Amino acid sequence: MVSGSVSGSPKKTSTSSPAYAAALLANWLRDDPNARELSWVVDAEAAAAVFAARLRKGLIGETARIAHIFVVHPGNGVGPTLTSVCRKPFPWYDLEFETALGKPMGQPCLGCQAMLAPPPPPVPIAPPPADRTSHADWAGWDRYYRELGWPVSEVAGQLLLAAGPDVDVVVISLDRALGEQVREALLPMRAQPPVLALPTLPDQLLFIVERTNIPAPIPKGVLMLAAAVPLYPSPTIAGEAMWHIAPDEVEDVRRCNDMLLLTTVNTVRAARPRREITS
Ligand SMILES: [Zn+2]
Repeated sequence: MVSGSVSGSPKKTSTSSPAYAAALLANWLRDDPNARELSWVVDAEAAAAVFAARLRKGLIGETARIAHIFVVHPGNGVGPTLTSVCRKPFPWYDLEFETALGKPMGQPCLGCQAMLAPPPPPVPIAPPPADRTSHADWAGWDRYYRELGWPVSEVAGQLLLAAGPDVDVVVISLDRALGEQVREALLPMRAQPPVLALPTLPDQLLFIVERTNIPAPIPKGVLMLAAAVPLYPSPTIAGEAMWHIAPDEVEDVRRCNDMLLLTTVNTVRAARPRREITS
């Protein structure tokens, strides 16, 4: 829906074409540079309007008339200028829009294209070797953890994940039953973090998540571990540290952070009777 007050009379047009809406507004502004109350509201249910436009003929040299890309989000109104994806402001009445021409708009703006391009895929990290019989050199797990960006060090025959406020990852320990519920709740969000199980802490699951440093209250049954944690395949006095969910089994080890985990704990708690969780 585009509307406004143009040359003293109210105007209102409903259209599903963003280019038509944009062209209409531009025309109104050209007819009456003092047009007021101009608004273009993209239906809240609709996708954002994405379209190309370039400066009209005669305003700049022909070769400089590159086509920029514009995005107007649902519910957004418009002002006297429209800002391209490459962050250049244009007065509406200086632009011509793609469907007004009905043909490609000439050279596309590389800046706009670069901004809209999807981010490069993460560099794949080779998983540790499947042969896990020899622990003499950690079977490649130490290299793998370091490639994940985790600060690990070998101390007294264990492969330890460092802890502390300067470390980008944080280990959050949950009561096992609560941990299983939180793990399930994180799955549909595709935010499953690696989860460690230590034989020395049989009633706990240890979630390894990104640290945000946003202060938050720690719910009952949750512990932020302040000591270095032995990672698989480190021996402990009660047996080998094990992955409950290994880092090579999750989509992205950086997807879950401490805030999301604590929020999920509270959500799970609110949704289920307390005795189910603490038993
Ligand atoms: Zn551009």
